[in-house]
Amino acid sequence: MALEIVSVKMFFFPFVGGGHQIPMIDTARVFASHGATSTIIATPSHALNFQKLVTRDQNSGIPITIHTLPAEIPDTTDVTAGPFIDTTVLLQPLKTFLLSHPPDCIVIDMFHRWAGDVVDELQIPRIVFTGNGCFPRCVQENIRKYVDVESMSSDYEPFVVPNLPHKVELTKSQLPIFARNPSKFPDIMKKFEDKSFATIINSFYELEPEYADYTRKELGKKAWIVGPVSLCNRSVEDKTQRGKSSTIDEQGCLKWLNSKEPHSVIYVSFGSLVRLPPKQLMEIAYGLEASGKSFVWVVGKIRKSEKNKEEEEEDDDEERWLPEGFEERMKESNRGMIVRGWAPQLLILEHGAIGGFVTHCGWNSTLEGVCAGVPMVTWPLTAEQFSNEKLVTDVLRIGVQVGSREWLRFGEEWKEVVGREKVEIAVKKLMEESEEAAEMRVRVKKIAECGRRAVEQGGTSYQDVDALIRELKQRKVNGHV
Ligand code: UDP
Repeated sequence: MALEIVSVKMFFFPFVGGGHQIPMIDTARVFASHGATSTIIATPSHALNFQKLVTRDQNSGIPITIHTLPAEIPDTTDVTAGPFIDTTVLLQPLKTFLLSHPPDCIVIDMFHRWAGDVVDELQIPRIVFTGNGCFPRCVQENIRKYVDVESMSSDYEPFVVPNLPHKVELTKSQLPIFARNPSKFPDIMKKFEDKSFATIINSFYELEPEYADYTRKELGKKAWIVGPVSLCNRSVEDKTQRGKSSTIDEQGCLKWLNSKEPHSVIYVSFGSLVRLPPKQLMEIAYGLEASGKSFVWVVGKIRKSEKNKEEEEEDDDEERWLPEGFEERMKESNRGMIVRGWAPQLLILEHGAIGGFVTHCGWNSTLEGVCAGVPMVTWPLTAEQFSNEKLVTDVLRIGVQVGSREWLRFGEEWKEVVGREKVEIAVKKLMEESEEAAEMRVRVKKIAECGRRAVEQGGTSYQDVDALIRELKQRKVNGHV
């Protein structure tokens, strides 16, 4: 049978947290735009987060739908939910749906830890989505394979990650808790991934060619590299309604940015999950003020201290996380914009006035910074962010490190505050004119261009999407599971 006439039905089952849900929705939209009949499976309240994007695609004739499961996961709809939220309430509804509507393949986020078994039992081909790139997974895998972390005596003595194409140094204190104690934490995620027939990676070959090859050849993963998926958001509406609707008037924000010189504003954001404590926010404010640079600073939810929960709850109202008179000074001098809540990150990053990005190095933010051609101040905190930092500063050489040293367990009490001087120095290094800063800017713009080309017709990611669809068609024709 000619493969062109075979249709492919793909399901996408995103997780509830922003850094995983947002790119999976983009991925479903990308596959639908290449002709795969795509269905996003979600709870009714989560579906509201991306309904508008999907409706717009449908109106353009793209074959994408949302299927809502008759269940809810309480307290997760604002996409700030962490990776350990229990989603097993969706198990039975998912199973029922899959039994009555078996797809040709389902893409599952790895944080639905239980879903692999359910899907395998129904003999549906599954693809895992881990949300990260090739580089961090190579780093993680080689540490797991070759480094005896448990017997390291020092938390802060750097070690070189063996067998990688570049010299990558980390310290024990920057490793996730499961990598520090591998004997206590069996690698559940790896098992989940190993039993899938392939992996979809939101990256592009030209960003990390050695690591894409390494992932495919050395780690033996069948990996489809299909990003940057955020580039499927082309209209202003798509960019402002991605994840959640923004809590600021985007026109006002754009007008403010329009009034600024090119590359003169630094954008500061720590993603969808992390909550910074007041003492850290205070240092950022002082550091930004001392840098003398204009900024857009997104302050999401604020972390309450375990000891002082009630007291700090009251403090919240009084804005005790900002220095006295800070906001008034920034308003008067027209220097800074503070966004409380959710910002249209893509829209802001792509604005010509933005010249730098202080980021926690979540994989999506890292990619989005790269695609916007913006150098970064790297401030990793948790997950695989310390590896992402090394990619930005040591491999791609498009950023400077703020100097964060401690990997934080999700929800754990803050160990170490990065002081205002470090913030000031890093921001100035990136934003003041110097040969080093100019070179970083040139390098990141070149990579951004490669990212754009990768998703255009004939580009590497474009071809990978088509190749996966073709493989699914072939499997269908051959009757494979
Ligand atoms: N994001 C956004 N506005 C915000 C905060 C986050 O649009 O105010 C988006 C951001 O563009 C990115 C995602 O949320 O796509 C965050 O993912 P990332 O991997 O960077 O970090 P995480 O939230 O997983 O820590």
